[in-house]
Parts: sequence; C-alpha cells; structure tokens
Amino acid sequence: MDYHSTTPVDSRVVEAMLPFFTEKFGNAASRQHMFGWIAEEAVESSRASIAQHIGADQKDIVFTSGATESNNLAIKGIAEVRRQKGNHIITVQTEHKSVLDTCRRLEKQGFEVTYLPVDSFGVVDVNRIRDSLRPTTVLVSVMFANNEIGTLQSIAEIGKICREHGVVFHTDATQAVGKVPVNVSTMCIDAMSFSGHKMYGPKGVGALYVRQSSPKVKIAMQMDGGGHERGMRSGTLNVPGIVGLAKALELSVELMAEESKRLMVLRDRMFHEFVSRLDAVSLNGHPTDRLPHNLNVSFAFVEDNALLMSMKDVAISTGSACSTADPEPSHVLKALRLPQERLHSSLRFGLGRFTTEEEVEYVITRVVESVRKLRELSPAYQSLVKKRHQTVTV
Ligand code: PMP
Repeated sequence: MDYHSTTPVDSRVVEAMLPFFTEKFGNAASRQHMFGWIAEEAVESSRASIAQHIGADQKDIVFTSGATESNNLAIKGIAEVRRQKGNHIITVQTEHKSVLDTCRRLEKQGFEVTYLPVDSFGVVDVNRIRDSLRPTTVLVSVMFANNEIGTLQSIAEIGKICREHGVVFHTDATQAVGKVPVNVSTMCIDAMSFSGHKMYGPKGVGALYVRQSSPKVKIAMQMDGGGHERGMRSGTLNVPGIVGLAKALELSVELMAEESKRLMVLRDRMFHEFVSRLDAVSLNGHPTDRLPHNLNVSFAFVEDNALLMSMKDVAISTGSACSTADPEPSHVLKALRLPQERLHSSLRFGLGRFTTEEEVEYVITRVVESVRKLRELSPAYQSLVKKRHQTVTV
C-alpha cells in the first residue's frame, strides 16, 4: 500500500537488465571496441523507446540518477542559462522537496520565487499562473501528479500559457509517467523529470526530458566531468538501469488502461468501505482528477503515527518517504488548509501492479479495527459520541 514511495522491479524488467551486468558490461562511452558499441546501442535504443512513449525526440532525453537529480538539473540548469533574461521562477506550494529546496537555494543566489497556493483539492489555478508571470519570469515548474494526494494539475493548459509567453515550462512527472497519459508535445512541456523506481523499474535511474527543438531549451550542466549526455550530465551511464527504465516504461504504457481500471475499482472500494464502516472519515485531494492508484484519507480523532504503529504488518505511510525524518505535518496537507486535527490523522494508500483483492480486503479490515480501537481511547471522540447520543435521546 506504499507504491508511491517505490515499487518492486517487474520480473520482465529484471530479465531485460541482466545481460548488461555481465556479458554486455561495456561502458557506453567506450568508442574503440565492441563492448562499448553494444552498451551504446542498448542505451540509444532505450532512449528512442522512452522518447517515443512520452511524445519526445530521442535527442531530448538525458539520463540521470533519478527524479531528484532531474529536478535539480532542470531548475538550476535552466535558471542559470536564462539568468540574463530574468530572475523570476514560479512554482507551487505542494511540490516535492527536490523542487522546493532547489528553488530555496536559487533564492539565496538572487532569484525571486513565487510559491503559488492550491485550492482545497490541491489544484493550482491556471489563471493565477498567468497573472503571476512577469517580464523577468524565466521558468514555471508545476508537478504533474502529487505524490501524497494524487491530485493531477492542468498540465496542458499551463504548458500553453507558458508557450504563449515564451517562458520555459518544467514538470516533475515522477508519479505520473507510466500511470496516466503523458505527452510532452501535445502538452507543451519543455522539460520533464521522471524516475525508474516509481514504475516497476530499478532505483537510481531516471531521466530528464529537455526539448531540443521548437523551441530549443538550453540547460547548464550541474555536474562537471566528461561531458556525457551531450554536455548536459557528465558521468558514466548506468546501462542496466537505463535498459530497465525503458522496459519499465514500455510495460507501464502497455498495461496502463487495464491497470488503472483495476486499481481504481480497488481504491474506490477501500474508500467506500472506510466511509460506510466508520464516521469522521474524509478524502484528501481531488475526488476525480487524481492518480488512479492513490487514496489519501483523514481519520479524525486518530493520530496518524499511532494508527501506523497499530498495523505494523501493513506498508502504509503518512506521506512522502523523502520527508519522513521531519516531524512537521506534511507541507502538502498544510497547503490544502485542512483543519489542524486532519493534518495529523491522514494516511496515504498507494496501490500497484501486484496489489491483490485479498490484500485490499485485509487492509480495509485492519484499518477499520485499528481506527475503532484508537478512537475508544480518544477523549475527544468519546465526548463527541456522548454529545451525539444526548442529541438523539433529547
Ligand atoms: N518527485 C516526486 C513527485 C516524487 O514522488 C519523488 C520520489 N518520492 C521524487 C521527485 C524523487 O525521485 P527519486 O527518488 O527518483 O529521486
């Protein structure tokens, strides 16, 4: 139930990767012998396949170590190149830390960043993006799908506005690629981050799409070295990882329609069961414009960590694994302006390719039992029940 934090590698992906650890172990940058050519060929055919699945050109794909690096490279790299034009960046309060912290660093270097608010569903108003544009705006970065509440943003509309105003548009699509249709051409996306381990591929490999034509987006390399990836990202390529990323995306696109349908049914069943068996349950995020496998629910009067501790055999989380060291409530839930008690009583469920119906039933039972038990110990909940009872009997 924690597939947003990571996914198991699909066995078909492992199979595709294996030869590149052993007999085909060459360095893709070795131009003088067969081992290098074989590795390079595998990298280039993976690049072509990935590009094709997101509506891009092969030369637009830059391989990285994952979405954290892609977000850093995109935002810092574009800001640096466009510095002469201006110093203003627009992003959203509910972004992943790898976007927000990158923006904070740029602020220290003299950039001005507008962090736009979202509505109670987590959606940013596209008109606010348009109204926030300044002559000095060089970059807009808005995530495709939120990793905690699953809310999808109006990416194509935002892309169109940015294109009309000559502003570069980057999206962190880590949770969206392979889960919902993504097309950089029709959605006017100029730069896009994504990662292997969120779509049944390996950890430690990802990509940054950077548009190379109409319009060409320039990016400054952030890692000095051998000038790999056409000067955009130095470092020996992770050949097995890249082959795995391509295979994972290919499978995810092929299975998308069927998988989304199945997971949406299971996800909706979970929520329906929570609402019908418990009171004071509420959905966080958008009811329909959300990832098909995401559910984020507040169980009022129950402390989220106590709830998790009471179900140690189930992998659920309160939010992003990237910020679990931070005891503060999630910045995403805070941005929804939820009442204080809901901030500390929310769980994120992420279903996936290998989640079974039996597992879903088991989790429903465990959650319902645990919430009931913890509420018996909650003076606030007991006094509410008492009040309700008095109102009914009066
Ligand atoms: N962006 C989003 C929306 C994410 O969910 C994650 C992973 N939690 C990342 C970026 C970082 O990805 P990676 O683990 O590949 O660095």
